[in-house]
Amino acid sequence: MPEIQRRKTPTVKIGNVKVGWEVPVVVQSMTNTDTADVASTIEQVAALAMAGSEIVRVTVNNEEAAAAVPAIVEGLEKRGIRVPIVGDFHYNGHLLLKKYPATAQALAKYRINPGNVSIGRKDDDNFRTMVECAVENQKPVRIGVNWGSLDQSLLTKMMDQNARSAQPLPARDVMMEAMVVSALDSAKAAECYGLRDDQIILSAKVSGVRDLIDVYTNLAARCNYALHLGLTEAGMGAKGLIASTAGLAPLLLAGIGDTIRVSLTPKPGGDRTEEVQAAQQILQSLSIRSFMPQVTSCPGCGRTTSTYFQELAEQIQGYLRTSMPEWRKKYPGVEELKLAVMGCVVNGPGESKHANLGISLPGTFEEPKAPVYVDGKLYTTLRGDTIVAEFKEILDKYVESHYGQGAKSEELVGTR
Ligand code: SF4
Repeated sequence: MPEIQRRKTPTVKIGNVKVGWEVPVVVQSMTNTDTADVASTIEQVAALAMAGSEIVRVTVNNEEAAAAVPAIVEGLEKRGIRVPIVGDFHYNGHLLLKKYPATAQALAKYRINPGNVSIGRKDDDNFRTMVECAVENQKPVRIGVNWGSLDQSLLTKMMDQNARSAQPLPARDVMMEAMVVSALDSAKAAECYGLRDDQIILSAKVSGVRDLIDVYTNLAARCNYALHLGLTEAGMGAKGLIASTAGLAPLLLAGIGDTIRVSLTPKPGGDRTEEVQAAQQILQSLSIRSFMPQVTSCPGCGRTTSTYFQELAEQIQGYLRTSMPEWRKKYPGVEELKLAVMGCVVNGPGESKHANLGISLPGTFEEPKAPVYVDGKLYTTLRGDTIVAEFKEILDKYVESHYGQGAKSEELVGTR
């Protein structure tokens, strides 16, 4: 696999997590609880961290939320969860950070939106206040430009200039340029007010895939700050997952992006950790980072008339997900494991041989047996009602023998 040439950026320390060129791309997420509700926020941050979110952002939108932050950080520490908590500020961050110094200290990073921190002002005093707070507390900031809240005075000025030029650009291009200019000008101002370049992360989020690729490609070419990637409003379900993947993949493969978030809209009462799983899956599908064993399963077709094979694939996937928190500690490297769960003999044995562990179920009219392959060799053939349980046993044995303490990889093969 050819190595991806990442952009060289300074390394930004966010609490106990590093972001930048020297370290792998970091997964982050954001809560949707009321931050003032300390117990619910702790619960959700814990769930996101357990799912693998390496940084969690919480909204700090009012005094109650700001006052709650130290208790949230303390509550997480008491539970042994040391995930950095980032404060998401809009409009009033300068007031809240000043009024709640314990919050300014407890947060691991501040997100500043340059489009709304100085609304209605001719100066950038509010932005400067936030940056000075960051300098005083030695915290990094993310300057997060968003096309939904782009600095309107900057956009109007650039639109006017464009209209007067001999060859005006399309409005969309001016908008994309305004986002880049807003991010770069704000970063320059932040450095003037005392932040170092290794304390600044930039983002320029939009909701269109092509816009995202264009704006980040442009931004990456014009600075060396670490970049946070993501569609600003990815959407729900398959649309959100596909749009995020389509937008992030070309950038990540081009070496652009040091931390990512997949901003899915959850179903009412849905699982917030899905956005973490999605971000991890994007990175793992691109062979950038590994988080959990991968299951290759075929789509099934007319040769698989029962749902048995789909059920097996789902059960194995679920088993991996529930086993991983424990496996991660006990079996270093297990996240590289590759499994195949296939529906019939056409591609089953072939695909199984490419995996560490593969099973090929009997298709319609095939003999009712399921050959199991281990590291490319036929290991055993399972039959009857206990196929799932026996396959899980083989899986456990493989994991123990290959990733456990004193593992000898040849132990499993040839023991039957
Ligand atoms: S492996 Fe068999 S069951 Fe699966 S899609 Fe191919 S032909 Fe169909």
